[in-house]
Amino acid sequence: ELERHLQEASQDKGRRTMGMATTDQEAPLTLVAGGAGFIGSHLCAALLARGEHVVCLDNLQTARASNLRALEAHPRFEFVRADVVDPLPASILHRAARFTRVYNLACAASPPQYQEDPEHTMLTCVLGTDHLLRLAEQAGARFLLTSTSEVYGDPEIHPQREDYRGFVNCTGPRACYDEGKRAAEAMTFDFARTGRADVRVARIFNTYGPHMHPDDGRVVSNLICQALSGRPITIYGDGTQTRSFCYVSDLVDGLMRLMESEIDGMEPINLGNPNEMPVNDLLDRIVGLTGAEAPVEYRPLPVDDPRRRRPDIARAAALLGWAPKVSLDEGLAATCAWFATELAEGEALACA
Ligand code: UDP
Repeated sequence: ELERHLQEASQDKGRRTMGMATTDQEAPLTLVAGGAGFIGSHLCAALLARGEHVVCLDNLQTARASNLRALEAHPRFEFVRADVVDPLPASILHRAARFTRVYNLACAASPPQYQEDPEHTMLTCVLGTDHLLRLAEQAGARFLLTSTSEVYGDPEIHPQREDYRGFVNCTGPRACYDEGKRAAEAMTFDFARTGRADVRVARIFNTYGPHMHPDDGRVVSNLICQALSGRPITIYGDGTQTRSFCYVSDLVDGLMRLMESEIDGMEPINLGNPNEMPVNDLLDRIVGLTGAEAPVEYRPLPVDDPRRRRPDIARAAALLGWAPKVSLDEGLAATCAWFATELAEGEALACA
C-alpha cells in the first residue's frame, strides 16, 4: 500500500514539476540510487537537511518503503521506483542535465540477500554502475560509488589499507558481490581516467543503525531482533571472528564529506569504525543492553566468511578530516530502541 502511495506521490510530483517556475525547474538535483535502503534513506534525509533536491531511485528489492516515511512529504524529495539494471527511467533521463551529484548505493549488501539472486547482484553492480556513470557523464555531475570492505575478501593484511589489493575467492558464494563491486570500482576509475566523469569511491565497512531490515540476516540486526523477541541467538562459527561496526550517522557524514571534497578522485577511501571486536563481544553488549535470556545457538561459519576485518581510516582522516564519533554503546542503544519500536508495531499489525 505504502509502495503504491510512494509511486503515486512521485508521479504527482513529476506532474507538478512540469508546471513549476523556471527557478525550480533549474534547481540542481542529487540522485541517490538505493536511496530507500538502510544507508540510503539516512543519506537522503541528511542531503535534504542541507538543502539539496533529492531524487531517490530504488527497486525496493531489499529496502523498505517505510524507511522513507519521514521524507515522502518533503517538497524537495522525489521517489522513483526502478531497477538500476534496466536503462534509467525517462523521468530521470529527460532532465539528466540538472543532476550535479549522483550517489550509487544500489545493491543488496547483506550476504544472504545478495546471494539469493547472484546474477542480479553482479548485474546491479556492473550494469547499474554503468547506467549511473553514463548519467553523471551526460550531466557533468560528480559520481560517488559505494564500494565495500568486501573487495578485500578474507584479508591477509590487518587492518585493511586502501592499497591492499585483497584476497577474494572469485569462485565462491560471495563473489557475486565482491567481484561485482571490484568491477564497479574498475569501471568508475576508468570513467575518471578517461575524463568522462568526476568520481569518488568509498569502501564501506560494517555499518549498523535504525532502518536496517529486521530480516537482513546481518549480525547486528539478527542478534538484536533475536534478543528482543526471546528467540535463540545465532552465532556462526565460534564467534571469535572479528568485525568493526560503524554507526550509520557517522558513515553518512563520511559519504557526504567525500562527495563534496576536492580531492583526487582516483583514490578509494575506507569509511568505517576501527573499533574491532569478536562477534562474541558484540553478543555480550547486546545481551547487556536488552537483558536477553535467550539461549545461544552456534551454527556453521558461512563459506568464505572473513576471519578479521578492520578499516585503516588514516586516508579519510587526512583527506576528509573524518572520524567516527558515535560509540558502540550509544549506537547499539539507539538501534535497540528503534528495533523495539519496529517489532512492537509489527506485532500490533499482526494482531490487528
Ligand atoms: N554472523 C553471526 N550470526 C548471525 C549473522 C552473522 O554470527 O546471525 C556472523 C557472520 O558469520 C560474520 C559476522 O557475523 O562473521 C558479520 O556478519 P554480517 O553478515 O553482519 O556481515 P559481513 O559478513 O558482510 O561482514
